[in-house]
Amino acid sequence: MNWSLAERLRSGTVLGAEGYVFELERRGYIKAGPFVPEVVLDYPDAVRELHREFLRAGAEVMVALTYYAHREKLRDVGREHDLEAMNRQAVRIAREVAGEGGALVAGNVCNTWAYDPDDPATRETVRAMYAEQLGWAAEEGIDFVISETNDYLGEAMIALEVIQALGLLAMVTLAPTQPDRTRDGYEYAQACRILAAEGAQVVGLNCDRGPATMVPLITRIRETVECAVAMQPVPYRTDAAAPTMQALRSPGGERSFPIALEPFACTRFEMAQFAQQARDLGVDYVGICCGAGPQHVRAMAEALGREVPASKYSPSMDLHPLFRADLSARDAAFLPSWNA
Ligand SMILES: [Zn+2]
Repeated sequence: MNWSLAERLRSGTVLGAEGYVFELERRGYIKAGPFVPEVVLDYPDAVRELHREFLRAGAEVMVALTYYAHREKLRDVGREHDLEAMNRQAVRIAREVAGEGGALVAGNVCNTWAYDPDDPATRETVRAMYAEQLGWAAEEGIDFVISETNDYLGEAMIALEVIQALGLLAMVTLAPTQPDRTRDGYEYAQACRILAAEGAQVVGLNCDRGPATMVPLITRIRETVECAVAMQPVPYRTDAAAPTMQALRSPGGERSFPIALEPFACTRFEMAQFAQQARDLGVDYVGICCGAGPQHVRAMAEALGREVPASKYSPSMDLHPLFRADLSARDAAFLPSWNA
């Protein structure tokens, strides 16, 4: 049985997984800088495979890779003519893989970089971009829409209106790049309250902050809204000195964002702990954003008490020659050199 998003939220925690753009860039299929998902048309098998890895790791939602597949961004890389094909194909691929494991399919829109709260004309530009992307997605068949990494409440509201006009459920999350409020001046919890009041089914935060620095903000959101709350942090060790991944710096003082963040990566164990913490905080949709790998997602799923297809290959360190209980005398002789 394939439960709807509403049913899944009512019955427990929903596990999401994102970060497709970062991971496919790391694998050599997306250009860092523009970060446009050209891979959807150029190497669809790469997208299919990553969806499948997240699905096997326990993700319940396949998010169509239409992040930055909007008119403004495609124009930057000279592929505006591929706009419709890219958006439609991304949804088809997500649907195909979701069908292999009873997952939901989410359409996806994000911040456009075209919105300017001081220029009313940009509202229509943004609305047109969302309307065409989500119109194609709805035609291809999606279960709900994730509008994410919103810097402005105003831009998020436009996405919400477009989603509602299509008769779809909306999960709207803000990008917590600032200390406590959106770029148009709304405290994050207040912005979420407004989005919920306007009819978003799920509100919350995604991207930019690691678990440690996103938790205080999400706690406040949880206290403020009655609807379902989503939290999808990046798996990086952000802290008080560098609360966002954009602020992380190498020992030499160079900015690590976006393609030198590896030294700050959270282990699967840290993300497992985060998943439990988020669930205990009352977060309904627990996920992960840029930097995610399937090892994180599987550990999060298992921390939530689930056995998933990839659990077949979960660690059995007791079978490692040097960690097993019945360590042989020959293998025991290796250990002093490892411990040196
Ligand atoms: Zn992200």
